Amino acid sequence: MKKIYNFSAGPSMLPFSVLNQIKKDLYNWKGLGISVMEISHRNEHFLQLVQEIEQDLRNLLKIPSNYKILFCQGGARGQFSAVPINLLDKFSNNPDYIESGYWSQAARIEAEKYCVPNIINIKKEHNGKKTILSPYNWKISKKPAYIHYCPNETIDGIAIYEEPIFDNKIIVGDFSSTILSSFINIKKYGIIYASTQKNIGISGITLVIIRDDLLKKSNNVVPSILDYKILSYHNSMFNTPSTFSWYVSGLILKWLKDMGGIKKIELINKLKSDLLYKTIDSSNLYFNDINHLNRSNMNVTFRLLKENLTNLFEKESYNNGLHALRGHRIVGGFRASIYNAMPIEGIKELIKFMVYFESRYG
Ligand SMILES: *Cc1c(COP(=O)(O)O)cnc(C)c1O
Repeated sequence: MKKIYNFSAGPSMLPFSVLNQIKKDLYNWKGLGISVMEISHRNEHFLQLVQEIEQDLRNLLKIPSNYKILFCQGGARGQFSAVPINLLDKFSNNPDYIESGYWSQAARIEAEKYCVPNIINIKKEHNGKKTILSPYNWKISKKPAYIHYCPNETIDGIAIYEEPIFDNKIIVGDFSSTILSSFINIKKYGIIYASTQKNIGISGITLVIIRDDLLKKSNNVVPSILDYKILSYHNSMFNTPSTFSWYVSGLILKWLKDMGGIKKIELINKLKSDLLYKTIDSSNLYFNDINHLNRSNMNVTFRLLKENLTNLFEKESYNNGLHALRGHRIVGGFRASIYNAMPIEGIKELIKFMVYFESRYG
């Protein structure tokens, strides 16, 4: 059987060694004679697992001690609600929502249920390329309740690599498609959140890293299941958590540690995306219309100049073991999601196919 490389945007591929470990553990986790899915989240072995996960996360991301780690439910979309309802009260100013693509806009639309966000559009066209304004040019309000932005627009393939530079403001970042892929200066942020099915495992939990002074803020109309203070007080076990997802995330963190941690994976990720963009830029069939400085190294989007070949490219790539390359339905084209788990061999196979396809049909 030909090896499959899965470029799905999320849920996305897992490292083979992690899948193998899951298989080994399945019937008999930690020698307990049963699977991890069948034990209580209060079981001492499970609590130990959770503690290890927290410690691994702290080490990998260098999370300062005044930040709490929460494991929430409801995905990143759940956080689109949780952020405003936890941080705002009737005395709050409105928050600023920075818009750079689909997900940051979706977050703003959800926030509109609770407040009147200031919308700050940072997308620009420059020489026919999609460009993002530098944070120095973001027109943020004088005293926003917080500033929300998304450093990697998973659907658009747009990234913001420059750090937000606003001191003494609460910055909230949706890191769903970029967490653990590169260094984050955590202390610049009030809240960082990410759903797990892209870079931290499978769907089912949402990581929230929150500065502890913000936990005091919550008001009593917040549904308990979204209330950061309650979740923190109960160590993310206010209700029954998605234990299997938690377990898989634990394996992912160990795998990442073995890979050499964030510094190492960041270099590999850069190498992977550089190879792909180089292929696209040097071709006469493929193109990407995003400014070089804002090209995502997690979600590489491209289109065919001969659009009528789109279905054929999709079919042939799939038959060559390159799965899930079709772009999101709202933007079309193609998208190679190449999170941490995608090995460089997968990139090389994709490039080989792209070169072949162009030489045959281009
Ligand atoms: C995938 C994604 C989401 C949505 O995540 P869910 O877990 O499906 O709610 C939100 N924001 C970004 C940046 C994403 O990549």
